[in-house]
Amino acid sequence: MAKILDGKVLAEKIKSELKTKATVFQKKHGRKCGLAVVLVGNDPASEIYVANKEKACEAVGIASIIHKCKDNIKQDKLLELISSLNSDKNIDGVLVQLPLPKHLDSAKIVGAVAPAKDVDGFCAANVGNLSFGAPCAIPCTARGCLELVKSTGIKLAGAHAVVIGRSNIVGKPVAQLLLNNDCTVTVTHSKTRNLADLTRTADILVAAAGCKHLVTADMVKPGAVVIDIGITRADGKIFGDVDFDRVRDVAGYITPVPGGVGPMTVAMLLKNVLETENHI
Ligand code: NAD
Repeated sequence: MAKILDGKVLAEKIKSELKTKATVFQKKHGRKCGLAVVLVGNDPASEIYVANKEKACEAVGIASIIHKCKDNIKQDKLLELISSLNSDKNIDGVLVQLPLPKHLDSAKIVGAVAPAKDVDGFCAANVGNLSFGAPCAIPCTARGCLELVKSTGIKLAGAHAVVIGRSNIVGKPVAQLLLNNDCTVTVTHSKTRNLADLTRTADILVAAAGCKHLVTADMVKPGAVVIDIGITRADGKIFGDVDFDRVRDVAGYITPVPGGVGPMTVAMLLKNVLETENHI
């Protein structure tokens, strides 16, 4: 039976360490470290995520300022807001909550955040720095995922990691981060043939497809570390990409959904906000 990787417990431990960092920041700068969150429209899931981030900031001593914009905001206006936050001396990090309404060019909006304040690590400069292995803001979910893998104590060098999903914000940064940590990485996606043949060879399996219970017990190598990033909402419940109840009989370690990667994503956001001064 797999050991459960409890993201809530690990996130709380990290957040308590960050409280000290936030106090040091405040003493050094004479103000709290500041995060600006831009929320466009009324997507219920985004509203919940932003409220959670606000609560978490407060708990560690980061000032969060939420900018709520109407869902029909013009692109130019949104770019103006981001530009003003980029030059605001009391703001250390800027986060644009995704997804954005369809009339907005997400890549352009996210790319407008100054690299030094890009706490999501999504702009081209930070993506480039991550691939060089240079100091940068690491995308929060990927960073949380790596922390969970490291918490098992398994040797990463030479381990075969299979990542399901290749999005710019989750799959690719997860794969890059595992590669930077000397894993041998296979990236799979919706066009991959014989997915199960690949996943069965994984010492570390990371699922980020957004397909309820895509990963079944027969797709998992006995003893593997299984990290489930996927979130699918159905029948008022949240499901991961992994068939948890059956896969836990095969895996060595497994994250639950909810309570695995989700809390770690928020903790890593706070960490990124407090580390922005290292990235300039
Ligand atoms: P996305 O839709 O942009 O990308 C999904 C990826 O999965 C794509 O690359 C696609 O090719 C691949 N894929 C889809 N179906 C597949 C299949 N059957 N077999 C193999 N590959 C398949 O989504 P995303 O933004 O990368 O997010 C992925 C999932 O992670 C979503 O469920 C999202 O809600 C969740 N998520 C969770 C957190 C968290 O903190 N827990 C954070 C971000 C995203």
